[in-house]
Amino acid sequence: LPVVAIVGRPNVGKSTLFNRIINERLAIVEDRLGVTRDRNYAQAEWLGRKFDVIDTGGITWDDGKIEEEIRAQAEIAIDEADVIVMLTSVVNGVTDLDEKVAQLLYRTKKPVILAVNKADNPEQRANIYDFYSLGLGDPIPVSSSHGTGIGDLLDEIVSDFPHDTDQKADDVISFSMIGRPNVGKSSIVNKLLGENRVIVANEEGTTRDAVDTPFVKDGTKFRLIDTAGIRRRGKVYEKTEKYSVLRAMSAIERSDVVCLVLDASTGIREQDKHVAGYAHEAGRGIIIVVNKWDLPEKNSTSAKDFEKIIRQEFQYLDYAPILFVSAKTGQRLDQIPKMVKKVYENQNQRIQSSVLNDLLLEASKLVPTPLVKGKRLRVYYMTQVRTNPPTFVVFVNDPELMHFSYQRFLINQLRENFDFMGTPIKIIPRKRK
Ligand code: GDP
Repeated sequence: LPVVAIVGRPNVGKSTLFNRIINERLAIVEDRLGVTRDRNYAQAEWLGRKFDVIDTGGITWDDGKIEEEIRAQAEIAIDEADVIVMLTSVVNGVTDLDEKVAQLLYRTKKPVILAVNKADNPEQRANIYDFYSLGLGDPIPVSSSHGTGIGDLLDEIVSDFPHDTDQKADDVISFSMIGRPNVGKSSIVNKLLGENRVIVANEEGTTRDAVDTPFVKDGTKFRLIDTAGIRRRGKVYEKTEKYSVLRAMSAIERSDVVCLVLDASTGIREQDKHVAGYAHEAGRGIIIVVNKWDLPEKNSTSAKDFEKIIRQEFQYLDYAPILFVSAKTGQRLDQIPKMVKKVYENQNQRIQSSVLNDLLLEASKLVPTPLVKGKRLRVYYMTQVRTNPPTFVVFVNDPELMHFSYQRFLINQLRENFDFMGTPIKIIPRKRK
């Protein structure tokens, strides 16, 4: 999906604008899985175009100097976004900090849209002409708190989207390493791509795809998605938690399969769970990669013990296979592309409706369908409507009766009968007409 980033000095209303653009979508995802999340990255839609929005003000840290903070914001936007919205406010006119932000943005070739917030009434809207001096083109007056001007801004944003963002060569398997800082993502990537390979730094203005690395292994074409920071190390914002979550989000979007990298020497941390929650919700294939397996003292049950902890901590990822590797010694790294390929095949398989309906019949013999307030769920027919992730529509008498637990049961039946290892499965109950 195209990515839109909002940047600007403090107090111009970035998060209010962010909330306007995303509507209430975030509230819906918020309480699932019990994953706490930062409100700085969310999906939005305008005129049928879906995109992701980043509030860069929510990503950078609080204790930095303002100037460092806006620099980090601008860098994140330049690195991650397809369209950048510079937000300022009509209340104070053009400030020195506005000029600094604008200057930082001059060096990107990406489209930058200038929006002037707090233009709540006609007198204030008359003052927006001052903002031409920022050299970023026509200022668009908006009022994030009143909701005016947002439609015009969104029209402008959507018209600047690149045209090829949904294109993908379909014989190439895209995958990525995601995880918190220092778990060893870059070490794994570099080892996988060959130690001697020279990795070209991302030139300013090149497209984001240019840093994804294609390679061929055992006759299969892969694309290793760059998780931004991996090849562009050393920036201040690199090590902040919120940024690493953001980085993971953009990698997940572009991957078929994501490898969630954990660190065997530190165990599982809260931050690992945030990243895992995003990967699960995105519906991508997932492999759990436990790195630094050379470090812990081991006996014959170590892997089993660690696996048990993983299964407890990431219950919703029960479908994800686990690999124990070491980027340092190279142990089992060759299993990663093999497993990625396997998961990719699983998430793209199509099951014939006749086979699915045999399964439904068998399932109905195993467990009675739920009975709610005297009304019994009747399941008539199941058909697969898409792959990646495999998604099944189940026609029933009343979708309300299709409880989560029964969906779970059907998913388990699917997993027992077919190899869906590594991929989430979605069930959509629909009323039979
Ligand atoms: P990233 O932030 O996830 O990309 O992590 P890095 O790849 O930069 O690795 C962080 C640190 O862990 C570095 O000092 C690596 O040398 C070290 N490291 C990475 N993988 C391994 C491993 O398998 N074993 C050991 N012992 N150290 C590792």
